Amino acid sequence: PKYVYDFTEGNKDLKDLLGGKGANLAEMTNLGLPVPPGFTVTTEACRYYLEHHELPEGLDTEIEEHLAVLETTMGKQLGQPDDPLLVSVRSGARYSMPGMMETVLNVGLNDDSVVGLAAQSGDARFAWDSYRRLIQMFGRTVLEVDGELFEDAISAVKHDRGLTEDVELTATDWQSLVTTFKEIVRQETGRSFPEDPRQQLREAALAVFESWNTPRAALYRRQERIPVSAGTAVNVCAMVFGNLGPDSGTGVAFTRDPATGQQGVYGDYLSNAQGEDVVAGIRNTVPLADLATIDPDSYSELLAIMERLENHYRDLCDIEFTIERGKLWMLQTRVGKRTAAAAFRIANQLLDQGLITLDEAVQRVTGEQLAQLMFPRFDEEPAGGAPRQRIGRGMNASPGAAVGKVVFDSYTAIKWSRSGEDVILVRRETNPDDLEGMIAARGILTSRGGKTSHAAVVARGMGKTCVCGAEELDVDTKNRRMRTPGGAVVEEGDVISIDGTSGEVYLGAVPVTDSPVVRYFDGQLDPASDEADDLVRAVDRLMHYVDAARHLYVRANADTPQDAARARRMGAQGIGLCRTEHMFLGDRRSLVERLILADTDTERDEALAALLPLQRADFTGIFEAMDGLPVTVRLLDPPLHEFLPDITELSVRVAVAEARGEARENDLRLLQAVHRLHEQNPMLGLRGVRLGLVVPGLFTMQVRAIAQAAADRIESGGRPCPEIMIPLVGTVQELEIITEEAQQVLGEVADERGVQLDIALGTMIELPRAALTAGQIAESADFFSFGTNDLTQTVWGFSRDDVEASFFSSYLEKGVFGVSPFESLDTDGVGRLIQLAVDEGRAAKSDIKLGVCGEHGGDPVSVRFFHAAGLDYVSCSPFRVPVARLEAGRAAG
Ligand code: PEP
Ligand code: MG
Repeated sequence: PKYVYDFTEGNKDLKDLLGGKGANLAEMTNLGLPVPPGFTVTTEACRYYLEHHELPEGLDTEIEEHLAVLETTMGKQLGQPDDPLLVSVRSGARYSMPGMMETVLNVGLNDDSVVGLAAQSGDARFAWDSYRRLIQMFGRTVLEVDGELFEDAISAVKHDRGLTEDVELTATDWQSLVTTFKEIVRQETGRSFPEDPRQQLREAALAVFESWNTPRAALYRRQERIPVSAGTAVNVCAMVFGNLGPDSGTGVAFTRDPATGQQGVYGDYLSNAQGEDVVAGIRNTVPLADLATIDPDSYSELLAIMERLENHYRDLCDIEFTIERGKLWMLQTRVGKRTAAAAFRIANQLLDQGLITLDEAVQRVTGEQLAQLMFPRFDEEPAGGAPRQRIGRGMNASPGAAVGKVVFDSYTAIKWSRSGEDVILVRRETNPDDLEGMIAARGILTSRGGKTSHAAVVARGMGKTCVCGAEELDVDTKNRRMRTPGGAVVEEGDVISIDGTSGEVYLGAVPVTDSPVVRYFDGQLDPASDEADDLVRAVDRLMHYVDAARHLYVRANADTPQDAARARRMGAQGIGLCRTEHMFLGDRRSLVERLILADTDTERDEALAALLPLQRADFTGIFEAMDGLPVTVRLLDPPLHEFLPDITELSVRVAVAEARGEARENDLRLLQAVHRLHEQNPMLGLRGVRLGLVVPGLFTMQVRAIAQAAADRIESGGRPCPEIMIPLVGTVQELEIITEEAQQVLGEVADERGVQLDIALGTMIELPRAALTAGQIAESADFFSFGTNDLTQTVWGFSRDDVEASFFSSYLEKGVFGVSPFESLDTDGVGRLIQLAVDEGRAAKSDIKLGVCGEHGGDPVSVRFFHAAGLDYVSCSPFRVPVARLEAGRAAG
C-alpha cells in the first residue's frame, strides 16, 4: 500500500487514512489556498507500526521520496547548513485526543544549520530561539524529558538577567540555553540530542505513532469509544515563521462565533509569535479584527479565504494561520466545535443562506445539544444593576446552573443537604471517596483537572452541574476556605453559583430561570413573537421538520394528570409508562396495609374495594389529559414491603412498646408481615407479575379501575385509549394467567356499563428470559415495552440502586465504559437481546406493537438504536420528549 500522501494527493474525505488535520490540509491545498507544502504519513502506517513494532517495508523510502519532492519544491534541503529547510511534525488522528503527542516544530535545526538560519533570516535571536524550541519540544515529547526542567532553565536565565519576559532574552541568552537544554537531554536520557535532521524527523514521527498508546490517550479512547485500531497519521509540513518580526504573526479564526453562532469576524491574533505562544497564553492576543490595521492585505486575503472555506465546507470552520513577513499561510482548518446554541443558530443560518438542506440542518444538531439548551440557566445580567461578582472560571464540564453553600468535603455536603441546604461541593479534585458528597450536592466545583477528570466524568454521568479546573481559585480544604484571584476569601457556608455551561463561578446567588427553549416547548413562548429570539426560532423550524421525518412515535412516562398534560405540550404522543406505585402511597398506605394484613377474603376484598374508586379517579384524570392518545398503565410492580414500615424502625418501636406493656395487636401483626415479606434481594423477589399471581384480587382491582375510568370517560364524551401492561414477566405462562383474568374483568365492565372497551394487553420485556422467549410471549401480548432499566440491571447483574454510588465511578475512570449503561443503552449486550426479542416477537405476531419505556427512551444515542432496531415508539420523561423527537427525526434522515 501507499503510506505517504503529498498534500496535493489527499482530500477532506480521507480522514480515516490521513487523519483530520492531514485530510483538511490536502483539501485546502487542492483549493489552491496558501498551505505550506508537505505530506502525510497514513494511519495505516501507524497501525502497522503499533502491531509489528517496526515500520512497514518501504515506508522509509517513501518518506525519503516525498521529502525529496518537498526539498525540490522549497529549493533547499532539510537542515541544509547554509539555508535549512525546516519542517513541523504533527500528529493528526481522525479525532483529536488529549494525551497524544501534538507537535514538534523546527525539525532540521542543529549546530550548523542554526547558523545558516541566522544568516538567511538576518535574525540570530530568532534562529537560536527556534533551535531551543526544537530541543525543548523534541526533548519533552519525543524523549519524554520533564518539561519543567526546560522551563526552570529559562526562568533561571531570566532571573539572573533581571528580566521577566521571554521576549527580552537575546540571541546570546537563547544560545546559552541551547547548551543548557542539550545538557538536560543528556542527563535525563543518557544520550545526546540528535543533530542529524533526518534522524530528528524519523524519531519525531515514531514518537507520534507511539503517543497513540499513552495511558491518557487510551483512557480517552475507551471513554469516547474511539476504536483503538484507528491509529494516527503524521503530518510533515514546511515551516513558516510567525516570529520573524512585527510583520509576522500567528492567529486563530472562526468563520462564525463558536459560542453564539453569530456571523462576523472572530478570532485572536498575536504578532511576532509562533502558534504555540498563543496556546501557552504567554502574551496577550489582540482581536482578529485588529489585523485589519496591522496588515490590511493579509487581513483581506484571510477574510476571503474564510468565506471560501465556509462555502466549501458549508459549515463553521476554525482556522489556524501564520503570517511570515507579510505573507499569509494556512496551517490548519476543520469544521469547528461550537456550543449547543451556536449549533442550532448556525444550522438555521446556513439553511437561510441556501448552503444546506433541511435534512442536513438537522444532522448538524444533536439531541444532546437540545438537552443542554433545556437546562435551567442563570438570568441575563440586568443592565444597570450591581455587577455580578465573577470569581473564577473553569472548564464547562457538565451543563446546568447550580447555586448553593460552599462545602469542602463530602461529609459536610451530605450532612447539610440532609438538613435541606443546597450545597456546592468544592474540592481541588475529586476521587471516589467524594462520591456520596457529589450525589448530595447541587453542583461540583474543582480547581484542578480537565474534562476527563474524575469530577467531570462522574458529574456528567450523574447529569449534575460541574465546573472543573478553575485554576485561579486556591482551594484550601484543610482550612475550609478558598481564595479568589482578587484576594477575596470564600468560607464554608458562603453561597456561590456555578455555570456548568459556560464554566463561570460567581460569588452569591445568581438568579436562575427556565430556559426559553423549555418555555417554547411548554407552550409559554410563541416562536413568532418578539420575545422569542433566533435560537427559539431555529429550534422551532428544525422540530417541525423532524416531527414530519421521524418513524418513531414519542411518548412520555407520566403518572399524574399534570405530568401528562405537560408531556403532551412537549409533544408526547401518548403515555408509554404510567407507573401505578405512587398511587399506593400517602394516605392510601393504610389501605395497602389492610390489604397485606388481611386474614380473610372478606378483609382483603374490603381493602381492595376501598382502593378501587381511588384508582379509578387517578386514571380518569390521566385519560382526560391524554384524551385520544394511548396511555399504557402498568400494573403494580414494586415489592409489597416497600409500602410497609422499615423493618428496623418497626422492630424498635414494637420492642419499646412491649417493654412498656403497650404493644398493640396491629403493630405486632404488621411486624410479622414485615418479617414475612422481607427479602434479601427484593429486586429479584416478589414483585411485578409475581405479585399479581400471589395476591388475589390486586391486579384485577387495577384492571377494573382502568376499565371503569375508560367507561366514565366515554360517557363524558372522551376518547380514552388505555393499554394495560404487565411488568416483570419471565415466561408466557405468567402472562397467560393474568391476561385471562384481565379479559374477564374487561368483559364484565363493558357489559355492566354497556360500552365497548378495546383495551390492549401487553407486557414489559425487562428480564433476559422474557427477551429470549419473546416469540412465545408474543402469542399472549398485544404489545411489548422494553423495560431497559431492569433489563440492564439483570443482563449485567448490576443493582440499579447501588452501583452508581459504589463502583461506577471507578469503572468510568478506568474507561470500562464511557457512560453508565443505565444512562445510555449497552447496545452490544442489552441491545442485542432487544433486537432478538423484536425479531422473534414480530415473527410470531407481525402486528405486535413495540416500544421502550426505560430511561434510555430519552437518551439520544439509545434513541438511534431503537430506531434502527425497528421499534414503534420510545417513551421517556416529559422533559426528554423534545430530545427524543429530534433524535428520532435525525435517525430517520
Ligand atoms: C424499566 O425497568 O425499564 C422500567 C421502565 O420499569 P421501572 O423503572 O419502573 O422498573
Ligand atoms: Mg422495571
